Amino acid sequence: NKIYDLLIIGGGPIGMACAIEARNKGLNYLVLEKGALVNSLFNYPLYMTFFSTAERLEIGDVPFTCIAPKPGRQEALEYYRNIQKHFNLNIQLNERVISVNKQQSGEFIVHSEKGWYHARNVVIATGFYDIPVYMDVPGENLPHVRHYYKEAHEYAFSKVVVVGANNSSVDAALECWHKGADVTMLIRKGEINNRVKYWIKPDIENRIDEGSIKAFYYSTITEIRQNEVDVFTPDGTVTLETDYVLALTGYRPDIEFLKKCGITISNNLFCTPQYDPETMETNIKGLYLAGVVCGGMETHKWFIENSRIHAKMIVQHVITLQ
Ligand code: FAD
Repeated sequence: NKIYDLLIIGGGPIGMACAIEARNKGLNYLVLEKGALVNSLFNYPLYMTFFSTAERLEIGDVPFTCIAPKPGRQEALEYYRNIQKHFNLNIQLNERVISVNKQQSGEFIVHSEKGWYHARNVVIATGFYDIPVYMDVPGENLPHVRHYYKEAHEYAFSKVVVVGANNSSVDAALECWHKGADVTMLIRKGEINNRVKYWIKPDIENRIDEGSIKAFYYSTITEIRQNEVDVFTPDGTVTLETDYVLALTGYRPDIEFLKKCGITISNNLFCTPQYDPETMETNIKGLYLAGVVCGGMETHKWFIENSRIHAKMIVQHVITLQ
């Protein structure tokens, strides 16, 4: 059975960066991706704009040119597909990894939906976009409640409650309002989050101030029913009529998968996986973390610009130990 020097789990931008680095250094590597290439980006809202400029999304020293100040989903997909065409990386798509087990011999056995692989080293670059942060309220699983937002058309001429005040919620609220939806935002704190893209924040604040988009601050949703939601506000419980609930309350990494791989997870709210910040190696020798998965529940800590460096750190460490 073939033994890979490096098996990379996740074909997102950072998994791809690891593959490019492994290829450049002559390592025998394989990437297993459960969906399409850069599957998280593929599932982003159709008309989203990145907060990063194009050059900050670059990997493998390949320029990403973009005419607008910031690229959108479509251009990013184009870019990462071109990267794949250029480097012809050894990536197997539509193949989810189920488990990673270290043998007595020190070698890893990686079990996917489609087979078994042997590897001396493994990188987990699985991101955080596959699991929503649930609100845990009755009615959350009703079909008109969505944890992912694609585009506004479906919501036009309807009453839409948007939960959250971060980039995803704000983008969705504005888009839906522009397309003719009646939008109400439910915001847990007293303001729109400071991490909202700097050119979008004044737009949403002005729409709220002028009353085009309604907002309840210091408010949380407590129950969802077919045509209404209950909201706990500083003035007591309010019931709002609604056709759709966009619960864009964030996403989180698959912490259970990391635990199953044997990685130690911090005991606090952040569920930070343990790794050496100099090498990205976890508490398990030869098992590495790369990309946004490193932050645990702190999903805003890592992004492409500051985590693409993980690829070089990991491959360097693997080579040094060979
Ligand atoms: P991901 O891109 O999430 O890649 C992880 C991959 O692993 C996925 O393709 C997934 O399908 C795969 N995977 C997961 N589990 C398994 C498994 N068990 N087996 C096999 N494959 C698996 N970051 C920026 O730097 N700039 C931005 O402007 C920006 N905008 C964003 C906008 C939105 C709407 C969102 C949600 C995020 C944004 N981010 C942005 C954060 C961004 O998602 C990450 O920076 C980037 O995707 C991280 O790359 P990654 O490779 O670490 O993770």
